[in-house]
Amino acid sequence: MTKENESTTSSTKQHTPTLLQSYLKTLRVPTMWREASTVARQISEHDGSYELYLQQLAELEVQQRKAGAIARRLKQAQFPVNKEVGDFDFAAVPKLNKKRMVDLAQCNFINLRSNIIFNGPPGTGKTHLAIALGREACLRGYKTKFFTASGLANLYREAREERQILKLEKQIQKLDLIIMDELGYIPLDRQGAEHLFGFFSQCYEQVSLVVTTNLPFADWPQIFANDQRMTGALLDRLTHHVHIIAIEGDSFRLKANTKNNKAAAVTEPTTKTPNSNDKTSQPKKGANPPSK
Ligand code: ADP
Ligand code: MG
Repeated sequence: MTKENESTTSSTKQHTPTLLQSYLKTLRVPTMWREASTVARQISEHDGSYELYLQQLAELEVQQRKAGAIARRLKQAQFPVNKEVGDFDFAAVPKLNKKRMVDLAQCNFINLRSNIIFNGPPGTGKTHLAIALGREACLRGYKTKFFTASGLANLYREAREERQILKLEKQIQKLDLIIMDELGYIPLDRQGAEHLFGFFSQCYEQVSLVVTTNLPFADWPQIFANDQRMTGALLDRLTHHVHIIAIEGDSFRLKANTKNNKAAAVTEPTTKTPNSNDKTSQPKKGANPPSK
């Protein structure tokens, strides 16, 4: 028996709370370390066994680590706002199949390296659903990141200027799911188009994409510097394994504003003049800012 072992066994003959805490600290199990005495008290009050004590402590450590990992993934995803599938009013978009969305939220499409494209006019919930899927992915352990299309094109431009394209590509490779929001809102210059073409090629069958766009595929060359061939090749890859979700309808923002305006007209008939500033359409303080 080595000297070290000797001293360990002799000291463990007696329970010393500080010694236990220092062992748990050395083992890097902070929750067990924090909860050791509380759980010990609870277990002895209920005549629990040593095994139960250890099991409960280990369980708390595992739960805490899982929650920490989810919080880290949500932070790294950099969603501009928090949106959930449960907050989405499917009745407002009757042609959108709720069951299909709920199935997609199980995130099997990520295991299959498939993509999702949300297509529809502004305000119909494309960004909401894209973020909601991204959030579900984070909860299920997938590394996720949110970009706008123009933000991603800028990131490539900066990386190129700083000769860091390889580094950026490695970061992208490590992700499981990338959300590209608002493709088509801002046309890209030649270089931006080539960068995004490179991005789509890199992600093909490697990283799942959720893309939101207001443009039908026929108009996509407009986004990519009017290059029909490049756009064709890009669409070929992007749509090889894809769920295309077309959302039809009026803007949810407009509908909400109209509803608010009507309600205000009913409740405040005497205070309004045609020229008065209508504050009811302003977002509530602390509410999520609407996306562009
Ligand atoms: P888009 O990306 O299609 O322009 P957004 O997803 O940004 O639209 O939606 C605009 C706002 O309206 C967001 O605050 C979003 O949460 C909300 N919204 C849109 N559609 C719905 C819906 N069907 N149910 C609940 N909220 C919705
Ligand atoms: Mg949007």
